[in-house]
Amino acid sequence: MFKKSFLALAVLLLAIISHAQVGIIPQPVETTVATGGGAFRINRQTKIVAGKDLQNSVKFINGYLKKFYGFELASTKNAKATNAVHLRAGKIAGLAKPGYTLDVKKTGIVIQGSTDTAVFYGIQSLIQLLPTVKGTDLSVPYVSVKDYPRFAYRGMHLDVARNFFPVSFVKKYIDNLALHKMNYFHWHLTDDQGWRIEISKYPGLTTAGAFRDGTIIGHYPGTGNDNTRYGGFYTKQEVKEVIAYAAERYITIIPEIELPGHSSAAIAAYPWLSCFPAKETSIPKNASEASQLKKGKKVQETWGVFEDIYCAGKDSTFLFLQDVLDEVVALFPSKMIHIGGDEAPKDHWKICPSCQARIKKEGLKDEHQLQSYFIQRIEKHVNAKGRTIIGWDEILEGGLAPNAVVMSWRGEKGGIDAAKENHFVIMTPGSHVYFDHAQTRDKDSVTFGGYTPLEKVYSYEPVPAELPAGKEEYVLGAQANLWSEYIRYDSKAEFQIFPRMSALSEVLWTPKEKRNWEKFQAAMIRQFQRYDLWDVNYFHEK
Ligand SMILES: [Zn+2]
Repeated sequence: MFKKSFLALAVLLLAIISHAQVGIIPQPVETTVATGGGAFRINRQTKIVAGKDLQNSVKFINGYLKKFYGFELASTKNAKATNAVHLRAGKIAGLAKPGYTLDVKKTGIVIQGSTDTAVFYGIQSLIQLLPTVKGTDLSVPYVSVKDYPRFAYRGMHLDVARNFFPVSFVKKYIDNLALHKMNYFHWHLTDDQGWRIEISKYPGLTTAGAFRDGTIIGHYPGTGNDNTRYGGFYTKQEVKEVIAYAAERYITIIPEIELPGHSSAAIAAYPWLSCFPAKETSIPKNASEASQLKKGKKVQETWGVFEDIYCAGKDSTFLFLQDVLDEVVALFPSKMIHIGGDEAPKDHWKICPSCQARIKKEGLKDEHQLQSYFIQRIEKHVNAKGRTIIGWDEILEGGLAPNAVVMSWRGEKGGIDAAKENHFVIMTPGSHVYFDHAQTRDKDSVTFGGYTPLEKVYSYEPVPAELPAGKEEYVLGAQANLWSEYIRYDSKAEFQIFPRMSALSEVLWTPKEKRNWEKFQAAMIRQFQRYDLWDVNYFHEK
Protein backbone atom coordinates (compact mmCIF):
# COMPACT_ATOMS: atom_id res chain seq x y z
CA MET A 1 0.00 0.00 0.00
CA PHE A 2 2.72 2.41 1.07
CA LYS A 3 4.74 1.42 -1.96
CA LYS A 4 1.90 2.11 -4.33
CA SER A 5 1.10 5.58 -3.03
CA PHE A 6 4.78 6.42 -2.91
CA LEU A 7 5.03 5.44 -6.56
CA ALA A 8 2.02 7.59 -7.41
CA LEU A 9 3.61 10.52 -5.60
CA ALA A 10 6.90 9.97 -7.40
CA VAL A 11 5.13 9.94 -10.77
CA LEU A 12 3.29 13.13 -9.88
CA LEU A 13 6.49 14.82 -8.75
CA LEU A 14 8.23 13.76 -11.91
CA ALA A 15 5.38 15.22 -13.97
CA ILE A 16 5.66 18.52 -12.13
CA ILE A 17 9.44 18.61 -12.50
CA SER A 18 9.33 17.69 -16.18
CA HIS A 19 6.69 20.32 -16.76
CA ALA A 20 8.88 22.91 -15.09
CA GLN A 21 11.72 21.79 -17.40
CA VAL A 22 9.55 21.83 -20.51
CA GLY A 23 7.38 24.84 -19.78
CA ILE A 24 7.49 26.39 -23.24
CA ILE A 25 5.94 29.87 -23.33
CA PRO A 26 3.61 30.31 -25.16
CA GLN A 27 2.39 26.80 -24.36
CA PRO A 28 2.28 24.71 -27.55
CA VAL A 29 -0.77 22.88 -28.86
CA GLU A 30 0.77 19.52 -27.92
CA THR A 31 3.86 18.74 -25.84
CA THR A 32 4.92 15.19 -25.10
CA VAL A 33 7.82 14.68 -22.74
CA ALA A 34 9.62 11.35 -23.28
CA THR A 35 8.79 8.81 -20.62
CA GLY A 36 11.95 8.03 -18.75
CA GLY A 37 13.36 11.49 -19.35
CA GLY A 38 16.74 12.02 -20.95
CA ALA A 39 18.23 14.92 -22.82
CA PHE A 40 20.11 15.76 -25.99
CA ARG A 41 23.23 17.84 -25.51
CA ILE A 42 24.02 20.77 -27.74
CA ASN A 43 27.75 21.43 -27.57
CA ARG A 44 30.49 23.02 -29.65
CA GLN A 45 30.54 20.01 -32.00
CA THR A 46 26.81 20.13 -32.74
CA LYS A 47 26.06 21.07 -36.34
CA ILE A 48 23.06 22.73 -37.94
CA VAL A 49 21.50 21.43 -41.15
CA ALA A 50 19.29 23.87 -43.07
CA GLY A 51 18.47 24.90 -46.62
CA LYS A 52 19.04 28.38 -48.05
CA ASP A 53 15.43 29.34 -47.36
CA LEU A 54 15.91 28.79 -43.62
CA GLN A 55 18.92 31.02 -43.03
CA ASN A 56 16.89 33.54 -40.97
CA SER A 57 16.34 30.77 -38.43
CA VAL A 58 20.00 29.71 -38.53
CA LYS A 59 21.11 33.30 -38.04
CA PHE A 60 18.70 33.82 -35.14
CA ILE A 61 19.59 30.70 -33.18
CA ASN A 62 23.30 31.28 -33.74
CA GLY A 63 22.94 34.91 -32.65
CA TYR A 64 21.15 33.73 -29.53
CA LEU A 65 23.68 31.00 -28.70
CA LYS A 66 26.59 33.38 -29.27
CA LYS A 67 25.08 36.12 -27.13
CA PHE A 68 24.04 34.01 -24.17
CA TYR A 69 26.29 30.92 -24.25
CA GLY A 70 29.32 32.13 -26.19
CA PHE A 71 29.35 29.75 -29.15
CA GLU A 72 27.68 29.07 -32.50
CA LEU A 73 26.69 25.98 -34.47
CA ALA A 74 28.63 25.24 -37.66
CA SER A 75 26.58 24.31 -40.71
CA THR A 76 26.76 20.97 -42.48
CA LYS A 77 25.05 19.63 -45.59
CA ASN A 78 25.01 16.12 -44.17
CA ALA A 79 21.30 15.40 -43.73
CA LYS A 80 22.15 12.26 -41.76
CA ALA A 81 24.34 13.98 -39.18
CA THR A 82 23.48 12.80 -35.67
CA ASN A 83 24.91 15.44 -33.37
CA ALA A 84 22.86 18.05 -35.20
CA VAL A 85 19.86 20.36 -35.29
CA HIS A 86 17.93 19.70 -38.50
CA LEU A 87 15.66 22.41 -39.92
CA ARG A 88 13.22 21.52 -42.68
CA ALA A 89 10.36 23.34 -44.37
CA GLY A 90 7.58 21.64 -46.26
CA LYS A 91 3.96 20.67 -46.07
CA ILE A 92 2.96 18.85 -42.89
CA ALA A 93 -0.23 16.84 -43.16
CA GLY A 94 -2.87 17.74 -40.62
CA LEU A 95 -1.14 20.82 -39.23
CA ALA A 96 -2.48 24.35 -39.69
CA LYS A 97 -0.11 26.95 -41.19
CA PRO A 98 2.30 28.19 -39.92
CA GLY A 99 2.57 25.00 -37.88
CA TYR A 100 5.70 23.12 -36.94
CA THR A 101 6.86 20.01 -35.14
CA LEU A 102 9.88 19.87 -32.86
CA ASP A 103 11.44 16.54 -31.91
CA VAL A 104 14.32 16.20 -29.49
CA LYS A 105 15.71 12.67 -29.48
CA LYS A 106 18.94 10.83 -28.84
CA THR A 107 19.69 11.05 -32.57
CA GLY A 108 19.36 14.82 -32.71
CA ILE A 109 16.89 17.68 -32.93
CA VAL A 110 14.49 18.05 -35.84
CA ILE A 111 12.33 21.10 -36.49
CA GLN A 112 9.93 20.63 -39.36
CA GLY A 113 7.89 23.67 -40.36
CA SER A 114 5.06 24.09 -42.84
CA THR A 115 6.80 27.32 -43.96
CA ASP A 116 10.06 29.11 -43.17
CA THR A 117 8.10 31.27 -40.71
CA ALA A 118 6.92 28.11 -38.95
CA VAL A 119 10.50 26.82 -38.67
CA PHE A 120 11.36 30.14 -37.00
CA TYR A 121 8.60 29.50 -34.42
CA GLY A 122 10.07 26.03 -33.86
CA ILE A 123 13.42 27.70 -33.14
CA GLN A 124 11.73 29.86 -30.48
CA SER A 125 10.38 26.74 -28.79
CA LEU A 126 13.83 25.19 -28.88
CA ILE A 127 15.21 28.33 -27.21
CA GLN A 128 12.61 27.87 -24.47
CA LEU A 129 14.04 24.40 -23.80
CA LEU A 130 17.63 25.61 -23.36
CA PRO A 131 19.14 26.01 -19.90
CA THR A 132 18.60 29.36 -18.24
CA VAL A 133 22.21 29.66 -17.13
CA LYS A 134 25.28 30.22 -19.25
CA GLY A 135 27.24 27.13 -20.35
CA THR A 136 28.62 25.39 -23.41
CA ASP A 137 26.99 22.01 -22.89
CA LEU A 138 23.29 22.71 -23.29
CA SER A 139 20.99 19.91 -22.30
CA VAL A 140 17.64 19.84 -24.10
CA PRO A 141 15.03 17.44 -22.69
CA TYR A 142 13.68 14.71 -24.99
CA VAL A 143 10.38 16.11 -26.09
CA SER A 144 7.98 16.11 -29.00
CA VAL A 145 6.03 19.27 -29.84
CA LYS A 146 3.24 19.87 -32.34
CA ASP A 147 2.24 23.49 -32.62
CA TYR A 148 0.55 26.34 -34.50
CA PRO A 149 -0.82 29.76 -33.52
CA ARG A 150 -4.40 30.54 -32.53
CA PHE A 151 -4.48 34.12 -33.91
CA ALA A 152 -2.98 35.54 -37.10
CA TYR A 153 -2.23 38.91 -35.45
CA ARG A 154 -0.02 38.83 -32.36
CA GLY A 155 1.31 42.28 -31.66
CA MET A 156 3.05 44.80 -29.47
CA HIS A 157 3.00 48.57 -29.79
CA LEU A 158 5.60 51.13 -28.80
CA ASP A 159 5.06 54.87 -28.45
CA VAL A 160 8.29 56.63 -29.42
CA ALA A 161 6.67 60.08 -29.59
CA ARG A 162 6.11 60.95 -25.91
CA ASN A 163 9.55 59.59 -25.18
CA PHE A 164 12.04 58.62 -27.83
CA PHE A 165 13.76 55.23 -27.96
CA PRO A 166 16.98 54.66 -29.91
CA VAL A 167 17.29 52.16 -32.77
CA SER A 168 19.26 49.78 -30.52
CA PHE A 169 16.34 49.57 -28.09
CA VAL A 170 13.76 49.18 -30.86
CA LYS A 171 15.76 46.21 -32.16
CA LYS A 172 15.91 44.65 -28.70
CA TYR A 173 12.15 45.18 -28.41
CA ILE A 174 11.68 43.39 -31.75
CA ASP A 175 13.86 40.51 -30.49
CA ASN A 176 11.55 40.19 -27.51
CA LEU A 177 8.58 39.97 -29.85
CA ALA A 178 10.31 37.23 -31.84
CA LEU A 179 11.12 35.28 -28.68
CA HIS A 180 7.39 35.32 -27.89
CA LYS A 181 6.32 34.23 -31.40
CA MET A 182 4.68 37.60 -32.06
CA ASN A 183 4.46 38.86 -35.61
CA TYR A 184 3.40 42.54 -35.60
CA PHE A 185 5.18 45.60 -34.24
CA HIS A 186 3.06 48.74 -34.16
CA TRP A 187 5.40 51.75 -34.24
CA HIS A 188 3.67 54.90 -32.96
CA LEU A 189 5.81 57.47 -34.79
CA THR A 190 4.00 60.77 -34.46
CA ASP A 191 2.18 62.63 -31.72
CA ASP A 192 1.77 66.01 -30.03
CA GLN A 193 5.10 65.73 -28.23
CA GLY A 194 7.30 64.78 -31.17
CA TRP A 195 7.47 63.71 -34.83
CA ARG A 196 9.91 60.81 -35.10
CA ILE A 197 10.31 59.83 -38.75
CA GLU A 198 12.28 61.67 -41.43
CA ILE A 199 10.11 62.84 -44.33
CA SER A 200 12.20 64.19 -47.23
CA LYS A 201 9.59 66.58 -48.60
CA TYR A 202 8.99 68.20 -45.20
CA PRO A 203 12.30 68.46 -43.33
CA GLY A 204 10.71 70.76 -40.74
CA LEU A 205 8.85 67.76 -39.31
CA THR A 206 12.12 66.53 -37.83
CA THR A 207 14.19 69.73 -37.53
CA ALA A 208 11.39 71.46 -35.62
CA GLY A 209 8.72 68.84 -34.92
CA ALA A 210 11.02 66.25 -33.34
CA PHE A 211 12.10 68.48 -30.45
CA ARG A 212 10.37 70.14 -27.50
CA ASP A 213 11.76 72.72 -25.11
CA GLY A 214 11.04 70.75 -21.97
CA THR A 215 8.89 68.11 -20.32
CA ILE A 216 6.64 68.29 -17.30
CA ILE A 217 7.97 66.65 -14.17
CA GLY A 218 5.94 63.87 -12.54
CA HIS A 219 2.28 63.13 -13.00
CA TYR A 220 0.15 65.34 -15.21
CA PRO A 221 -0.17 68.32 -14.85
CA GLY A 222 3.28 68.04 -13.28
CA THR A 223 5.14 69.66 -10.42
CA GLY A 224 7.33 71.71 -12.74
CA ASN A 225 9.24 71.49 -16.01
CA ASP A 226 12.71 70.04 -16.56
CA ASN A 227 13.49 72.92 -18.97
CA THR A 228 15.59 70.55 -21.07
CA ARG A 229 15.30 70.41 -24.83
CA TYR A 230 14.28 66.85 -25.67
CA GLY A 231 13.72 64.87 -28.84
CA GLY A 232 15.06 62.68 -31.59
CA PHE A 233 13.98 60.97 -34.78
CA TYR A 234 14.80 58.07 -37.07
CA THR A 235 16.42 58.77 -40.42
CA LYS A 236 15.05 56.90 -43.43
CA GLN A 237 18.18 54.78 -43.39
CA GLU A 238 17.53 53.79 -39.77
CA VAL A 239 13.90 53.03 -40.52
CA LYS A 240 14.96 50.75 -43.37
CA GLU A 241 17.44 49.03 -41.10
CA VAL A 242 14.77 48.38 -38.46
CA ILE A 243 12.28 47.09 -41.07
CA ALA A 244 14.88 44.64 -42.40
CA TYR A 245 15.77 43.56 -38.87
CA ALA A 246 12.11 42.83 -38.13
CA ALA A 247 11.59 41.04 -41.46
CA GLU A 248 14.41 38.62 -40.65
CA ARG A 249 12.37 37.78 -37.56
CA TYR A 250 9.11 37.39 -39.52
CA ILE A 251 7.71 40.53 -37.92
CA THR A 252 5.74 43.12 -39.88
CA ILE A 253 6.06 46.72 -38.74
CA ILE A 254 2.89 48.80 -38.90
CA PRO A 255 3.83 52.48 -38.92
CA GLU A 256 1.40 54.94 -37.35
CA ILE A 257 1.00 58.49 -38.61
CA GLU A 258 -1.62 60.11 -36.36
CA LEU A 259 -4.42 62.14 -37.94
CA PRO A 260 -6.44 64.33 -37.68
CA GLY A 261 -5.67 64.71 -33.93
CA HIS A 262 -2.47 64.36 -31.93
CA SER A 263 -0.84 66.56 -34.56
CA SER A 264 0.75 69.38 -32.51
CA ALA A 265 4.30 68.46 -33.52
CA ALA A 266 3.50 68.63 -37.24
CA ILE A 267 1.60 71.88 -36.73
CA ALA A 268 4.54 73.36 -34.79
CA ALA A 269 6.68 72.69 -37.87
CA TYR A 270 4.07 73.81 -40.43
CA PRO A 271 1.45 76.09 -38.82
CA TRP A 272 -0.59 76.24 -42.06
CA LEU A 273 -1.81 72.70 -41.25
CA SER A 274 -3.90 74.17 -38.43
CA CYS A 275 -7.36 75.73 -38.81
CA PHE A 276 -5.85 78.86 -37.23
CA PRO A 277 -2.18 79.22 -38.24
CA ALA A 278 -1.77 82.53 -36.40
CA LYS A 279 -3.22 81.28 -33.13
CA GLU A 280 -0.53 80.63 -30.54
CA THR A 281 -0.33 77.26 -28.83
CA SER A 282 -1.81 77.85 -25.39
CA ILE A 283 0.75 77.64 -22.62
CA PRO A 284 -0.08 74.73 -20.35
CA LYS A 285 0.57 74.67 -16.63
CA ASN A 286 4.26 73.96 -15.98
CA ALA A 287 5.44 74.93 -19.48
CA SER A 288 9.18 75.40 -19.92
CA GLU A 289 10.72 78.86 -19.67
CA ALA A 290 11.75 78.67 -23.33
CA SER A 291 8.23 77.85 -24.40
CA GLN A 292 6.78 80.70 -22.35
CA LEU A 293 9.04 83.12 -24.22
CA LYS A 294 8.37 81.62 -27.66
CA LYS A 295 5.62 82.92 -29.95
CA GLY A 296 3.47 80.81 -32.26
CA LYS A 297 2.99 77.06 -32.47
CA LYS A 298 4.85 74.69 -30.17
CA VAL A 299 5.58 71.02 -29.71
CA GLN A 300 3.72 69.96 -26.57
CA GLU A 301 5.55 69.46 -23.27
CA THR A 302 2.69 67.94 -21.38
CA TRP A 303 0.30 65.02 -21.92
CA GLY A 304 -3.32 64.82 -22.96
CA VAL A 305 -5.55 65.78 -25.85
CA PHE A 306 -5.06 69.10 -27.67
CA GLU A 307 -7.60 71.07 -29.68
CA ASP A 308 -5.21 72.33 -32.37
CA ILE A 309 -5.58 69.58 -35.02
CA TYR A 310 -5.21 69.28 -38.81
CA CYS A 311 -7.67 71.51 -40.67
CA ALA A 312 -10.20 69.39 -42.55
CA GLY A 313 -11.31 72.29 -44.73
CA LYS A 314 -8.11 73.11 -46.58
CA ASP A 315 -6.95 70.88 -49.43
CA SER A 316 -3.35 71.71 -48.52
CA THR A 317 -3.75 69.57 -45.38
CA PHE A 318 -4.66 66.54 -47.48
CA LEU A 319 -1.89 67.16 -49.98
CA PHE A 320 0.59 67.30 -47.10
CA LEU A 321 -0.69 64.08 -45.53
CA GLN A 322 -0.75 62.31 -48.89
CA ASP A 323 2.89 63.28 -49.47
CA VAL A 324 3.83 62.04 -46.00
CA LEU A 325 1.94 58.78 -46.47
CA ASP A 326 3.51 58.27 -49.90
CA GLU A 327 6.96 58.34 -48.30
CA VAL A 328 5.79 56.09 -45.46
CA VAL A 329 4.28 53.58 -47.88
CA ALA A 330 7.50 53.60 -49.91
CA LEU A 331 9.47 52.67 -46.79
CA PHE A 332 7.19 50.14 -45.09
CA PRO A 333 6.10 46.96 -46.89
CA SER A 334 3.24 46.46 -44.39
CA LYS A 335 -0.17 45.90 -45.99
CA MET A 336 -1.72 47.85 -43.09
CA ILE A 337 -0.89 51.51 -42.47
CA HIS A 338 -2.09 53.00 -39.16
CA ILE A 339 -3.60 56.47 -39.41
CA GLY A 340 -4.57 56.98 -35.76
CA GLY A 341 -7.98 58.61 -35.81
CA ASP A 342 -8.41 58.85 -32.03
CA GLU A 343 -9.00 61.76 -29.68
CA ALA A 344 -9.61 64.53 -32.19
CA PRO A 345 -11.47 67.41 -30.45
CA LYS A 346 -13.83 69.21 -32.81
CA ASP A 347 -13.57 72.67 -31.15
CA HIS A 348 -11.57 74.23 -33.98
CA TRP A 349 -13.52 72.58 -36.77
CA LYS A 350 -16.74 74.03 -35.32
CA ILE A 351 -15.50 77.59 -35.73
CA CYS A 352 -13.16 77.27 -38.71
CA PRO A 353 -14.60 78.86 -41.90
CA SER A 354 -12.77 76.37 -44.14
CA CYS A 355 -14.01 73.35 -42.18
CA GLN A 356 -17.57 74.70 -42.13
CA ALA A 357 -17.40 75.34 -45.88
CA ARG A 358 -16.30 71.73 -46.36
CA ILE A 359 -19.23 70.44 -44.29
CA LYS A 360 -21.63 72.48 -46.43
CA LYS A 361 -20.07 71.55 -49.75
CA GLU A 362 -19.95 67.82 -48.99
CA GLY A 363 -23.43 67.81 -47.43
CA LEU A 364 -22.15 66.52 -44.10
CA LYS A 365 -24.29 66.59 -40.99
CA ASP A 366 -21.72 67.70 -38.45
CA GLU A 367 -18.06 67.64 -37.38
CA HIS A 368 -18.22 63.89 -36.65
CA GLN A 369 -19.13 63.31 -40.28
CA LEU A 370 -16.30 65.66 -41.19
CA GLN A 371 -13.96 63.31 -39.31
CA SER A 372 -15.38 60.43 -41.37
CA TYR A 373 -14.82 62.44 -44.53
CA PHE A 374 -11.23 63.05 -43.42
CA ILE A 375 -10.53 59.38 -42.73
CA GLN A 376 -12.24 58.18 -45.91
CA ARG A 377 -10.36 60.66 -48.08
CA ILE A 378 -7.08 59.43 -46.59
CA GLU A 379 -8.25 55.83 -46.94
CA LYS A 380 -8.90 56.30 -50.66
CA HIS A 381 -5.37 57.54 -51.13
CA VAL A 382 -3.85 54.69 -49.12
CA ASN A 383 -6.01 52.11 -50.92
CA ALA A 384 -4.85 53.47 -54.28
CA LYS A 385 -1.34 52.53 -53.18
CA GLY A 386 -2.50 48.96 -52.58
CA ARG A 387 -2.59 49.31 -48.80
CA THR A 388 -5.29 49.18 -46.11
CA ILE A 389 -5.80 51.67 -43.31
CA ILE A 390 -6.07 50.69 -39.71
CA GLY A 391 -7.28 53.12 -37.06
CA TRP A 392 -8.34 53.44 -33.43
CA ASP A 393 -12.00 52.75 -32.77
CA GLU A 394 -13.03 56.44 -33.09
CA ILE A 395 -12.89 55.89 -36.86
CA LEU A 396 -16.27 54.20 -36.39
CA GLU A 397 -17.86 57.52 -35.44
CA GLY A 398 -19.86 59.16 -38.20
CA GLY A 399 -19.59 56.14 -40.46
CA LEU A 400 -16.70 53.74 -40.91
CA ALA A 401 -14.38 53.92 -43.86
CA PRO A 402 -15.11 50.94 -46.17
CA ASN A 403 -11.98 48.77 -45.96
CA ALA A 404 -10.68 49.96 -42.62
CA VAL A 405 -9.37 47.67 -39.91
CA VAL A 406 -10.31 48.77 -36.39
CA MET A 407 -8.14 48.73 -33.31
CA SER A 408 -10.48 48.57 -30.36
CA TRP A 409 -8.93 50.40 -27.40
CA ARG A 410 -11.86 51.88 -25.48
CA GLY A 411 -12.98 48.51 -24.21
CA GLU A 412 -14.40 45.90 -26.55
CA LYS A 413 -17.42 47.74 -27.92
CA GLY A 414 -15.67 49.27 -30.93
CA GLY A 415 -14.33 45.87 -31.87
CA ILE A 416 -17.72 44.22 -31.55
CA ASP A 417 -19.47 46.93 -33.60
CA ALA A 418 -16.85 46.75 -36.33
CA ALA A 419 -16.85 42.93 -36.52
CA LYS A 420 -20.65 42.97 -36.76
CA GLU A 421 -20.22 45.13 -39.87
CA ASN A 422 -17.65 42.64 -41.23
CA HIS A 423 -14.61 44.79 -40.56
CA PHE A 424 -11.44 43.13 -39.36
CA VAL A 425 -10.60 43.99 -35.78
CA ILE A 426 -7.56 43.93 -33.52
CA MET A 427 -8.36 44.02 -29.83
CA THR A 428 -6.26 46.32 -27.62
CA PRO A 429 -8.58 47.12 -24.69
CA GLY A 430 -7.23 49.43 -22.01
CA SER A 431 -8.74 47.14 -19.39
CA HIS A 432 -6.36 44.22 -20.11
CA VAL A 433 -3.49 45.05 -22.44
CA TYR A 434 -2.33 48.60 -21.70
CA PHE A 435 1.16 47.85 -20.46
CA ASP A 436 1.69 51.45 -19.35
CA HIS A 437 -0.64 50.61 -16.45
CA ALA A 438 0.83 49.61 -13.10
CA GLN A 439 1.47 45.99 -12.12
CA THR A 440 1.39 46.71 -8.43
CA ARG A 441 -0.85 48.69 -6.12
CA ASP A 442 2.23 50.09 -4.37
CA LYS A 443 3.09 53.56 -5.54
CA ASP A 444 6.71 52.71 -6.31
CA SER A 445 7.03 54.68 -9.51
CA VAL A 446 5.17 57.15 -11.66
CA THR A 447 2.98 55.28 -14.12
CA PHE A 448 0.00 56.21 -16.21
CA GLY A 449 -2.32 54.71 -13.59
CA GLY A 450 -4.65 51.76 -13.72
CA TYR A 451 -3.81 48.33 -12.32
CA THR A 452 -3.21 45.46 -14.71
CA PRO A 453 -1.46 42.56 -13.00
CA LEU A 454 -0.11 39.51 -14.82
CA GLU A 455 -3.14 37.34 -14.03
CA LYS A 456 -5.48 39.90 -15.56
CA VAL A 457 -3.50 39.92 -18.81
CA TYR A 458 -3.48 36.13 -18.77
CA SER A 459 -7.26 36.03 -18.32
CA TYR A 460 -7.88 38.14 -21.41
CA GLU A 461 -10.01 36.58 -24.14
CA PRO A 462 -9.69 38.43 -27.48
CA VAL A 463 -12.95 37.09 -28.92
CA PRO A 464 -15.70 38.91 -27.01
CA ALA A 465 -18.49 36.68 -25.66
CA GLU A 466 -21.09 39.14 -27.03
CA LEU A 467 -19.92 38.66 -30.60
CA PRO A 468 -22.64 36.97 -32.70
CA ALA A 469 -21.79 33.52 -34.06
CA GLY A 470 -19.88 33.61 -37.32
CA LYS A 471 -18.25 36.95 -36.58
CA GLU A 472 -15.29 35.51 -34.62
CA GLU A 473 -13.27 35.28 -37.82
CA TYR A 474 -13.15 39.08 -37.97
CA VAL A 475 -11.07 39.20 -34.78
CA LEU A 476 -7.54 38.99 -36.18
CA GLY A 477 -5.94 38.95 -32.76
CA ALA A 478 -4.79 41.36 -30.10
CA GLN A 479 -1.97 43.68 -29.14
CA ALA A 480 -0.57 45.30 -26.02
CA ASN A 481 0.09 49.03 -26.14
CA LEU A 482 3.00 50.75 -24.47
CA TRP A 483 2.30 54.47 -24.26
CA SER A 484 5.41 56.24 -23.07
CA GLU A 485 4.32 59.38 -21.21
CA TYR A 486 5.85 58.01 -18.02
CA ILE A 487 8.47 55.78 -19.66
CA ARG A 488 11.63 57.76 -20.37
CA TYR A 489 14.22 54.99 -20.17
CA ASP A 490 14.75 51.57 -21.76
CA SER A 491 14.83 49.85 -18.37
CA LYS A 492 11.41 51.26 -17.45
CA ALA A 493 9.98 50.13 -20.80
CA GLU A 494 11.21 46.61 -20.10
CA PHE A 495 9.85 46.75 -16.56
CA GLN A 496 6.42 47.57 -17.99
CA ILE A 497 6.36 44.80 -20.62
CA PHE A 498 7.86 41.97 -18.54
CA PRO A 499 6.41 39.61 -17.50
CA ARG A 500 3.06 40.68 -18.99
CA MET A 501 4.29 40.12 -22.55
CA SER A 502 4.81 36.43 -21.76
CA ALA A 503 1.18 36.18 -20.60
CA LEU A 504 -0.06 37.97 -23.70
CA SER A 505 1.92 35.64 -25.97
CA GLU A 506 0.03 32.69 -24.53
CA VAL A 507 -3.34 34.47 -24.91
CA LEU A 508 -2.56 34.93 -28.60
CA TRP A 509 -0.85 31.67 -29.44
CA THR A 510 -2.17 28.87 -27.24
CA PRO A 511 -5.55 27.20 -27.94
CA LYS A 512 -8.18 28.68 -25.62
CA GLU A 513 -8.95 25.35 -23.95
CA LYS A 514 -5.26 24.76 -23.19
CA ARG A 515 -4.76 27.97 -21.29
CA ASN A 516 -4.20 27.32 -17.61
CA TRP A 517 -3.08 29.93 -15.08
CA GLU A 518 -1.47 27.41 -12.68
CA LYS A 519 0.47 25.74 -15.46
CA PHE A 520 1.55 29.11 -16.80
CA GLN A 521 2.81 30.16 -13.37
CA ALA A 522 4.86 26.96 -13.16
CA ALA A 523 6.40 27.70 -16.56
CA MET A 524 7.10 31.29 -15.47
CA ILE A 525 9.58 30.08 -12.83
CA ARG A 526 12.02 29.28 -15.61
CA GLN A 527 10.93 32.24 -17.69
CA PHE A 528 12.00 34.61 -14.90
CA GLN A 529 15.41 32.89 -14.89
CA ARG A 530 15.47 33.38 -18.64
CA TYR A 531 14.78 37.11 -18.21
CA ASP A 532 17.87 37.16 -15.99
CA LEU A 533 19.85 35.43 -18.73
CA TRP A 534 18.56 38.01 -21.23
CA ASP A 535 19.51 40.74 -18.77
CA VAL A 536 16.15 42.47 -19.07
CA ASN A 537 14.44 44.47 -16.38
CA TYR A 538 11.14 43.02 -15.18
CA PHE A 539 8.49 43.31 -12.53
CA HIS A 540 8.29 40.47 -10.03
CA GLU A 541 5.83 40.37 -7.13
CA LYS A 542 7.71 40.04 -3.89
ZN1 LIG B 1 -10.31 74.03 -40.39
